[in-house]
Amino acid sequence: MLHEDIKGYIHSTDSFGAVDGPGIRFVVFLQGCPLRCLYCHNPDSWKFGEGTQRTAGDLMEEILGYRSFLKRGGVTLSGGEPFAQMDFTKALLSLCRKNGFHTAVDTSGAVALSLSREGIDLTDLLLLDLKAYDPEECRKLTGQDNHHALETLDYCEKTKKPVWLRHVCLPGYTLYDEKLTRMAEFLKHYSCIERIELIPFHQMGSYKWDYLGESYQLAETEPPSAQEMERAKQIFLSRGLPAV
Ligand code: SF4
Repeated sequence: MLHEDIKGYIHSTDSFGAVDGPGIRFVVFLQGCPLRCLYCHNPDSWKFGEGTQRTAGDLMEEILGYRSFLKRGGVTLSGGEPFAQMDFTKALLSLCRKNGFHTAVDTSGAVALSLSREGIDLTDLLLLDLKAYDPEECRKLTGQDNHHALETLDYCEKTKKPVWLRHVCLPGYTLYDEKLTRMAEFLKHYSCIERIELIPFHQMGSYKWDYLGESYQLAETEPPSAQEMERAKQIFLSRGLPAV
């Protein structure tokens, strides 16, 4: 089948994304995620087989209409989990490449490398969300441990694939000096990491949990203060890591 004809389930798109990779980007949010992060702000993207079915060719046509805005940015596939719809993800990445767009994939690393490898090879940048360094903590936070994510990071190191690593700082779970220090000590050995984005937990998606009838465990959790985020950042910066 031609790349153009391959269909995927799309949650939504954003033609002017400014937070998912360098520059202004067209962001395609794919529907379906194997994880259930306690702090997910998009629980409506969880279920597979929902959303709008579109072909990679149809989306590419839409993206081409924004070409002049995306010159210094590009296209980001996010989710949900893009690598959980591999045929579509590969098709869209191939079309973007053919049309000269810089590409990024925003992934939780929840998919086994044996399935995601070709997608990683096709993208210019991986936005890898490392939920926790400790496997058990990762399971508590997301329902799955982090061994696929760490395997993904190792593969990026081996193939010199640029990575922007993301980590949500969640008070009471991940926002502790000792946990951040362990993570930073581990990450300082990876030269593929170009940037570390420490993301403060927020409550902006909590209403969606209520709407979907899902039980939200973080209703009483306050977002971290600016001071706490600065302290977290310094743990990484002091080890020579490019934290922002
Ligand atoms: S990986 Fe992303 S979309 Fe999936 S549950 Fe976690 S935060 Fe939500």
